[in-house]
Amino acid sequence: MKIGVLALQGAFREHRDLFERLGAETTLVKLPEHLEGLNGLVIPGGESTTMGKLLREYDLLHPIQGLGQEGFPLLGTCAGMIVLAKQIVGAPEPHLALMDITVNRNSFGRQRESFETDLDIPVIGADAFPAVFIRAPHVEAVGEGVEVLARYHDRVVAAREGNLVALSFHPELTDDDRLHQYFLDIVENA
Ligand code: GLN
Repeated sequence: MKIGVLALQGAFREHRDLFERLGAETTLVKLPEHLEGLNGLVIPGGESTTMGKLLREYDLLHPIQGLGQEGFPLLGTCAGMIVLAKQIVGAPEPHLALMDITVNRNSFGRQRESFETDLDIPVIGADAFPAVFIRAPHVEAVGEGVEVLARYHDRVVAAREGNLVALSFHPELTDDDRLHQYFLDIVENA
């Protein structure tokens, strides 16, 4: 399995290290040609407006969009969730516009900039997942084909639609590799 990690901006190194620990081959994606031969791609956390701008500047937006439309597995974490979404509250236009979710940016930020909490995510097992939220978005609405994977105080913070997975939090900043393994399983079955 060869997993690409979008490396324009943000927390990409931690994703790469975690996938390598799980035995996957990884590539840092900065140019369109780096997408060749990949089995899946991660859009990391960072700042979604900047990432969207860089995706356009580096001619990566349309190639990744095309892959996603063909069923290529994509994992978006935090800003990556925003980049995957079809609707962003208050934004004039989305970025990749692949996943049928409406996201609200910075939804936990007013109360607390960042925090860690134990989340119940049944698809990865019974043990709680230590989820790190950093100025995190949440999913305000989901389309029909979207499976909700986890909620935090009634807010959707993890979802899946086909081979697309979006997480509000940063699983790459913990030692728990179950969500990365969950994505690798999707990649293997794609
Ligand atoms: N709030 C940021 C954004 O809107 C995302 C924060 C993060 O990725 N940790 O892009």
